[in-house]
Amino acid sequence: MKQPLPKGFKVLEVEEKWQKKWEEMGVYRFNWDDKTSPTFSIDTPPPYPSGEFHMGLVLNWTYFDIVARYKRMRGYNVYFPQGWDCHGLPTEVEVEKLHGIKKTDLPPDQFRMLCEELVGKNIGVMKKAITNLGCSIDWTTEYKTMDPNYWRRTQLSFVLLHKKGFIYRGTHPVNWCPRCETAIADAEVEYETRTAQLHCINFKLEDGGFLTIATTRPELIPACVTVTVNPHDERFKQYVGKKIHVPTTNRTVEIITDDLVDPEFGTGVVMICTYGDKADVKSVAKHKLPVITCIDEKGRMTQNAGRYVGMTTEEAKKAVIEDLKNEGLLEKTEPLNQEVSVCWRCHTPIEILEKEQWFMKTRILSSQVEKNALEIKWYPDYMKYRLIDWAKSLDWDWVISRQRVFATPIPIWHCKKCNEIILAEPNWLPIDPRIENPKIDECPNCGSKEFKPERDVLDTWFDSSITCAVHAGWPDKEDWRRLFPADVHPSGVDIIRTWAYYLMVRHLALFNEKPYKSCLINGMVLGTDGRSMHKSFGNYVASQEVFSKHGADATRQWVAGGGATGSDIPFRWPDVEYGWRFLIKLWNAARFVSNQLKDYKPNENAEYVLQPLDKWVLNKAEKLTKKVTDALEGCQFNIAMEEIRNFTWHVFCDCYIEAVKDRLYKPNFYGEEKRKAVQYTLYTVLYRILQLLAPITPHITEEIYQAMYAEDKSHKSVHLSHWPTLDEKRIDEEAEKHGDLIMAVIIEVRREKAEKRMPLNTQIKKLTIHAGGKDTAEIIMKGREDISGACKVANIEIMPEKGDGREIKPYNNIRFIAEY
Ligand SMILES: [Zn+2]
Ligand SMILES: [Zn+2]
Repeated sequence: MKQPLPKGFKVLEVEEKWQKKWEEMGVYRFNWDDKTSPTFSIDTPPPYPSGEFHMGLVLNWTYFDIVARYKRMRGYNVYFPQGWDCHGLPTEVEVEKLHGIKKTDLPPDQFRMLCEELVGKNIGVMKKAITNLGCSIDWTTEYKTMDPNYWRRTQLSFVLLHKKGFIYRGTHPVNWCPRCETAIADAEVEYETRTAQLHCINFKLEDGGFLTIATTRPELIPACVTVTVNPHDERFKQYVGKKIHVPTTNRTVEIITDDLVDPEFGTGVVMICTYGDKADVKSVAKHKLPVITCIDEKGRMTQNAGRYVGMTTEEAKKAVIEDLKNEGLLEKTEPLNQEVSVCWRCHTPIEILEKEQWFMKTRILSSQVEKNALEIKWYPDYMKYRLIDWAKSLDWDWVISRQRVFATPIPIWHCKKCNEIILAEPNWLPIDPRIENPKIDECPNCGSKEFKPERDVLDTWFDSSITCAVHAGWPDKEDWRRLFPADVHPSGVDIIRTWAYYLMVRHLALFNEKPYKSCLINGMVLGTDGRSMHKSFGNYVASQEVFSKHGADATRQWVAGGGATGSDIPFRWPDVEYGWRFLIKLWNAARFVSNQLKDYKPNENAEYVLQPLDKWVLNKAEKLTKKVTDALEGCQFNIAMEEIRNFTWHVFCDCYIEAVKDRLYKPNFYGEEKRKAVQYTLYTVLYRILQLLAPITPHITEEIYQAMYAEDKSHKSVHLSHWPTLDEKRIDEEAEKHGDLIMAVIIEVRREKAEKRMPLNTQIKKLTIHAGGKDTAEIIMKGREDISGACKVANIEIMPEKGDGREIKPYNNIRFIAEY
């Protein structure tokens, strides 16, 4: 044994030291040369570099770092990569704000440089936070999706999917954010309840009379293409096929029937506009109706809106209502709470515009998504339905093109003369068509030598939804399938419909194989007030504040112990403080042990004269090992955490150490053999605690391991030691029962002293135990030395018969009398 541990435990210093050393020692490197150990690959989601590693990410990363560390100790060659999902609108918006410009003020490549600069800075901040959290990432794998080398992969996947027929360009209604001026996917649409005005408007029938229509969007009236009623609605049967005048225009449209119209809703008469919502899109397709676009990309009224041209939708809404009032067509207006579709990023209500865009056929994969989702192991299990239900609910294919700058370019050109599409060849990649020409001399269709670049770029999710293959080494490493599918894909409950879904469809389409074998879902972090954590709610806590106060090991205990996997967990300072106090308790116990082991040399062949309490704690440590192993296998981190903390704090520190101190201190009295037995037990049980705790609190366990065990054990880090397997030989139920009884005696005697306000070391002149039976008397007899030592008893008498005295819980036939 080296020097005993020092007195104070400087959490922050120790953590920083190991974070540096682990990197220098290469403890967490994936071993590419090792072709025999089983591999375990983690599909680390590349985070969006916002510049802030918030508590939600702390939760996320702690979960899969625990898994990585556990699997590494189980003997897996663990692959734990880290990338950054750089592209996207928020960076563009931030750069515009920072430099006071619009993205169109600069050439695309210059604007892109400003974005890259900002992203680089943000990555630095977040990388530091991931390091401070103690994540066992192999940093040699770091990548950025904005690097040309990653573009190459994203573009290659586009080219391959295009060749396989999964990509098409089509004119189709898409969700459109007029603020961000780009198409967005269904997954990026959020719903908010807002109060709108429901207007009841009279549409004049050509033959006289009118029908009343209820709408919250009167500004869309100029785009009305038909009026529908339910075919079984007796009230309106006579009007079907008749013409009705569209207010604010000089057009008439035909009244048709559609069984999707709910006679109970509104007035039972519905106008179909192009487009107010997805129901309109369905009607247009079903009845082959014309499309009148009256709103443009910026959310302003077009020529088709007649006198409202140039107005914003809000202005047009007011103007239309004013005009209807003047014409006497407005019946009434009342407030209505409704779900509004908004842009996930800026919360502007989205419009549905008909646009020429690039799409990926995803709906044809829905049944395969379901089949694979059912085969995959989910933690927790019920989360699989989030993916299945989402896939089944989709009305549209995935719109993958965006009208932005900072994104992966679509590797396509169009022939200026005949419009032929020129798709890049794999060996041209990476390529930016906005800067470079296709590497062909002439259009294969018409021979023209002039091409226009595709100016649309790819959705960011198109970059990040191939990570399972990219992490594995696709397309460069020949044996990339060794790490594919990923063993685990970790995800937040809120991004199953994006991340887990897009990964699934991309890899199914590309490789006809599922991308991951299991899915580990974390919930949301709530603020201290139970609401979701948000800066504007005043309940926001920055991760660096938590780290700098109590360190990573305490923070990680809050994560692990905070709640069941997949459930939302509130951030609680007391949980972090409790974690910190546990570290101090563990340190003090280890320090005590290190002091007692100065003259101890571990010897595997030695036979120790184990006493009942030694066997008892060893037995409990074995059972703890089984419980913790089972919990970690099932990703039940909170169960593992509680089991280890309870054992360490109560069984090991409060009970065992206190009970055997006398035996340690007085070898002359008890005999050296019995002291050796305690030393062996302390050495063994503490090591077990360190190993079981290592995945959750990696720093303190390493510090104690290096000081006390590294010399004897052959591993350069506790994190490379072999996870303890259950040693059946050590399980001894009888010894545990005996130990429970002896410990109960000690606890009860000490409790009596405490109640009498006597110091615990007060000498008991005589302790009489009425064991209530011959068998129990014999058991207590075996532990009499530890009982006497722990309770400072001068003279102990153990009687087999029942008798008077204080009851020893929970054994109601056993009683004792202490004479002081
Ligand atoms: Zn937006
Ligand atoms: Zn051509």
